[in-house]
Amino acid sequence: MTQDDPTLYVVPTPLGNLGDMTQRAIDILRAVPWVAAEDTRHTAPLLKHFGSSARMLAAHQHNEEAAARQVIDKLTEGESVALVSDAGTPAVSDPGARLVARVRAAGFRVVPLPGPCAAVTALSASGLTDAHFLFYGFLPAKSKQREDVLRALIDLPYTLVFYEAPHRILETVESLSLIYGMGRTLVMARELTKLFETIHSCPLHEALAWLQADPNRQRGEFVLLVSAAGESKDDGEAQRVLSLLLNEGLPVKQAAKLAHAIVGGGKNALYKLALSLKN
Ligand code: SAM
Repeated sequence: MTQDDPTLYVVPTPLGNLGDMTQRAIDILRAVPWVAAEDTRHTAPLLKHFGSSARMLAAHQHNEEAAARQVIDKLTEGESVALVSDAGTPAVSDPGARLVARVRAAGFRVVPLPGPCAAVTALSASGLTDAHFLFYGFLPAKSKQREDVLRALIDLPYTLVFYEAPHRILETVESLSLIYGMGRTLVMARELTKLFETIHSCPLHEALAWLQADPNRQRGEFVLLVSAAGESKDDGEAQRVLSLLLNEGLPVKQAAKLAHAIVGGGKNALYKLALSLKN
C-alpha cells in the first residue's frame, strides 16, 4: 500500500478547546472528500470552523456495520475517509473500533493521527507515579455490576482510569470508596481543556465529601484515576491495623483478611505488607 492509496484516517478532535486540533488533523479534514462522524450535527460546525468542505456520513454505535460498508464503498471508489467522534479519539470509549476492523479486514490502509484523549490528558497531570495504568473507561451503571467490576480490579498494581458523566459521579465515587476503602489516592479531572478545568487529588475516602461540599464540583465530564494497589504512600492506617492484629497473635493470612475488612484496599498488597511486618 502506498500513500496515494485510498485511506481511512482516524482523526482525534478537541475535548473542548478548539486550539487542541493538530495541524495534521486540519489538513486531513480539508483534503478528504468524506468524513464519517459519530454525530453529523455535532461535527458540522467543526468542519466549518476548520474550512473543510467534506461531505459527511453517520457512523454511530447503532449503525457501525452499515457505516463500515459505506466507508468501504467510498474507499473502493478511490475516495479517502476521515473517521471522527464527538470529542477525543475515536474507538476510545467511542464508536469506531468495529468500523476500523472491517476496513482493515477489507485490505484498506488505516492511518491513525495522534491527538486529544481525555484519559491520557488526565494521566499526564494526575501526579500519580505508578509505572503502569489500566484504562477501563465507563463502569457499569448498576451498582451491583459496578462493584463487581471494581472488586475484580482491586489488586492490580496499576493506576486505574475510569470515565464518568456528571449524573453518575456521586454514585461511582461512592462505589470506589466502598470497595477500595482507605489507602488509595483518587484524582478527579473534570472539564479538561475547558474554562472550569479542575484536577483535584485527595485520599479516596475523602472524595465523596469533597464533591458533596459544592454542587459545582459535580458538574461536567470526569476522568477518575485511582492510585495502584499497594503503591500508595497513604498506607499508614493499613499498617497500624495490621500491626495491632499481628501483635495479638493472628496468623498473617487472617490478619490481612481482617485488615481488608477494616480499611479496604488490595488483599494481595495487605498480605505482602503483613508478611513484611511479621518478618
Ligand atoms: N473518545 C474520548 C476520548 O478519547 O477521551 C472519550 C469519549 S467518552 C464518550 C466521553 C467521556 O470522556 C466523558 O464522559 C468523560 O469521562 C471523558 N471526557 C471527555 N471530555 C472530557 C473533558 N473535557 N474532561 C474530562 N473528561 C472528559
